[in-house]
Amino acid sequence: MPTAIVWFRKCLRLHDNAALTWACESSEVDSILPVFVMDEELGSGGTGGIGFNRARFLVQSLRDLDDSLQRELGLRLRIVRGGYLETMEAIIRGLDGSTPYLAYEYCSEPKSLSVSAEISGWELSGGMDFESRIFSGSHTLLDIEKTVSSENYSNPKSMKDMERIFQRQFGVDDFGFYDIGEPLPPPVSSKPMSEIVTLDSEVGISDLDEYLINNYPRRVLEAPYFRGGEGEALERLSRKVSGEKDYVNNFKKPRTSSTNLDEDHREPSTTGLSPYLSTGCLSIRMLWSECKKAYLMGEHTQPPESLHGQMMFREMFYLLSRSVDNWDQNTGNENCKDIDWGEYDSELVGCWEDGMTGYPYIDAMMRQLEETGWMHHLGRHAVSCFLTRGQLWQSWTAGRDVFERKLLDSDWAINNGNWLWLAGVAPFSMPYYRIYNPCPDSKSSLNVETNLAKFVRHWVPELKDYPSKYIFEPHLAPLDVQVSSGCIIGDDYPLPIVDRKESRAKNLERFKLSLQK
Ligand SMILES: Cc1cc2nc3c(=O)[nH]c(=O)nc-3n(C[C@H](O)[C@H](O)[C@H](O)COP(=O)(O)OP(=O)(O)OC[C@H]3O[C@@H](n4cnc5c(N)ncnc54)[C@H](O)[C@@H]3O)c2cc1C
Repeated sequence: MPTAIVWFRKCLRLHDNAALTWACESSEVDSILPVFVMDEELGSGGTGGIGFNRARFLVQSLRDLDDSLQRELGLRLRIVRGGYLETMEAIIRGLDGSTPYLAYEYCSEPKSLSVSAEISGWELSGGMDFESRIFSGSHTLLDIEKTVSSENYSNPKSMKDMERIFQRQFGVDDFGFYDIGEPLPPPVSSKPMSEIVTLDSEVGISDLDEYLINNYPRRVLEAPYFRGGEGEALERLSRKVSGEKDYVNNFKKPRTSSTNLDEDHREPSTTGLSPYLSTGCLSIRMLWSECKKAYLMGEHTQPPESLHGQMMFREMFYLLSRSVDNWDQNTGNENCKDIDWGEYDSELVGCWEDGMTGYPYIDAMMRQLEETGWMHHLGRHAVSCFLTRGQLWQSWTAGRDVFERKLLDSDWAINNGNWLWLAGVAPFSMPYYRIYNPCPDSKSSLNVETNLAKFVRHWVPELKDYPSKYIFEPHLAPLDVQVSSGCIIGDDYPLPIVDRKESRAKNLERFKLSLQK
């Protein structure tokens, strides 16, 4: 009887994992070999696609997965460093006995699709003896491939379009909810391999820990606010969603505070589940289902503001990123208007990334990102608008790269989609002339706590003793206030890198001119 190689790609969990459940339950499978392939990303020393927080979160998630595989199913996660294709080929060829299965979840990113296409090619050509089982709808609610290839599909631009797509793919159940189906429970029994298989380039979790220590000797000492792993994901789900029915039913995204909870400057006012959804420590179907349980208890908010609405935006970006060519590019991308962004200015982008723009709200957000790997959605609005059409006139791709490296929830489809949105260049963008004031007051749609301004005081400690009146625009404080607050602007904290009003007016003009080309 054959072995099933269960290849964990973006579902680092036991619950709602169709590939793992199939392997555990199938009568065609005799033994299971769980594998995670770490391609070159983590080896980049943090300068490439994955920075410290992301790398640590991934290592924690892998440790948690290995622990639960051992504890619940008597299996070991085998982590192999190398290219996806070479690794898979070596593993398949290295297995003795009957034709093995390769079971894995569908991923819609171009790189993953080309890997899957290559693997299907091996299977079809008969050059290698194995059978694939690919499971769609594991990382998303929709079957992305089925949706974008359906006859009546056209690219969604709004929540109304998404509602039509959901209605078509799922229909509605007796309670009027899209009939999405329940998440799979974790498998209860398994089939460990009877003999030990040697894998080339295998690494243990301790090797990955060592990698973090060697590459980030100081940062590994910092306690993470968000810890990776399915256990943490389920705990947060229970604390923020399952156990908080009123919160779920009243959830209105545009009303949530961008400056987090008053009592804890690191705890999101939203669910904070995005890092777990992106790594697949939490299934999106599980979150959908837990919200639905709350909705069944009484009145609740609706898309686009509701939590279901947030998840539908997520699906929208998965669809678009699959159907729009060059989704991550400024050119050749039908969802991106051709704007003459300024030359890449490393000094401006550097000040923005380091939280040294002289605009405390922007700087607080960027410093929070650096330390915790997370930022509220409206904070992301503010800093992306500031970098692009608002103040600095830099291409959205420059900011996208920084987010990709630093966000714990970094996700190719969603990150590019939101940057397109905020840069004002996409069909679904907000009007380009609606520019956020980087010095918000209490009425700002960025929902900022301005009275005590605790968030800014925490993340920009240079300003911790400033009167709230000046804290969002400290260069306007009279010199005696600067002296008595212990922070001279220009010496202890930067002067604004650009004049916000002048740059705004100039950039609006530039945007308009680009559109007239
Ligand atoms: C410039 C920019 C870049 C972004 N990059 C990413 C990214 O790389 N990865 C990412 O997951 N989100 C990204 N977002 C979307 C959004 O900010 C985060 O998903 C959200 O803040 C995560 O916090 P939460 O889990 O508390 O969200 P909640 O409000 O609790 O929402 C629940 C879930 O819905 C999904 N969701 C919510 N808002 C959006 C949205 N606008 N688009 C797509 N899905 C959404 C997320 O999976 C989220 O975890 C970006 C937003 C902006 C403006």
